[in-house]
Amino acid sequence: MPECAYTSICDFFVSEVGYSPELNHNMKQHFCLEDNTHCARLLAMDIVGENIPVDMLPTDTERLTELDASM
Ligand code: SF4
Repeated sequence: MPECAYTSICDFFVSEVGYSPELNHNMKQHFCLEDNTHCARLLAMDIVGENIPVDMLPTDTERLTELDASM
């Protein structure tokens, strides 16, 4: 799959939110530029629209339940 359509507006992609620069780089490479099908931020859009927590990572799938419960 090509680059994610949200790279220009996604807080994760445009900032350095995360644990380490290397981990961020690897997640951006994998999720944002290669395969976003399992990105938690992308899945969260279906739940909260664009109000995705700034600190949510593409790997934070466990937080989807939390977001779902808050709606
Ligand atoms: S973190 Fe997810 S939603 Fe954001 S640009 Fe990357 S793949 Fe797209």
